[in-house]
Amino acid sequence: MADAAKTPPKVVVVGSLVFDLVARVDRRPGKGETRLGTDFGMFPGGKGANQAVQAARFCADVTMVGQVGDDFFGREMIKSLHDHYVDTRFVHTDPSTTTAVGCITVDETGDNSIVVVPQANMKFMPAQAENALNSLLLPHTLLLQLEIPLETNIKAAVTARSKGWPVILNPAPAQPLPDQLLRYVDYLTPNEIELGAITGSKPTSLAEYARAAGELLSYGIKGVIVTLGEQGAMLVTEDESTLFPAFHVAVVDTTAAGDAFTGTFSVAMAEGKPLHEAIVLANAAGALAATRSGAQPSLADRDSIEKLAVDAKAPRSII
Ligand code: ADP
Repeated sequence: MADAAKTPPKVVVVGSLVFDLVARVDRRPGKGETRLGTDFGMFPGGKGANQAVQAARFCADVTMVGQVGDDFFGREMIKSLHDHYVDTRFVHTDPSTTTAVGCITVDETGDNSIVVVPQANMKFMPAQAENALNSLLLPHTLLLQLEIPLETNIKAAVTARSKGWPVILNPAPAQPLPDQLLRYVDYLTPNEIELGAITGSKPTSLAEYARAAGELLSYGIKGVIVTLGEQGAMLVTEDESTLFPAFHVAVVDTTAAGDAFTGTFSVAMAEGKPLHEAIVLANAAGALAATRSGAQPSLADRDSIEKLAVDAKAPRSII
């Protein structure tokens, strides 16, 4: 815990807040059909908010920048962030729209159908992100995902770069990305599918992931960390392609494993930890998130992550 006792590093997340409504049912209804569900839950989520909570659980001083509607879901989202000690001064409430919701139906085999209605997230404008970042006086590490408008992400990245702040992009959900964004990214954390979408390829082997990730370094990105689920994560820089094996855990639900990974990675980097150490910690956080169901409730605290990280297997070089 020695590191956590120092002044906490500052991380700012510009990103999404989504309220998930999860209904369990024996069989998902067909067209025109109504079925009685067996269980229901409401959970604050969204990649931005999840990563902010994980960064806070890993003991960073976290500010969330984003937007909700003036409704019950928005107020619950803000309350949940507060409960995790995330600064919500820059979570704007827009009365002209509604908070993003995810309507999720899970059947008894575990298969799901999801409708996400992005609403307030997609109305979060570049100037709002820029103003929020310019209001932060001390240096921060900026953490981005792709659930808000691309122009807003670009403006946030450009603003952070102009202040000399590091930019970490978790490019999820998968989509091609313009040069104007990639040029301002220091570290990129795609999964295999996102890596394929960005590079316009379909990599399937470790060597192909390494090659595809290597292409992205030409944008000036210092490191691409490809998350590979139960295989772990691969670091690709100008100097190396290295696989960090996953931790063996009893997997219950991998929801938010990617958010746990990037949230933890960003704090470790903001603390100035060596890249390899940051990836081992992020791997441990991702594994722990896979051992519990749900998104934010599955995000582990720093002690648990550090304890698991001690048992990391040696990384190996990928040619
Ligand atoms: P995403 O959910 O974004 O696709 P991944 O599935 O690659 O992301 O998971 C992110 C990280 O979480 C992985 O790099 C790994 O560290 C950890 N992780 C995910 N699934 C498992 C698993 N089954 N066992 C151990 N660790 C896992």
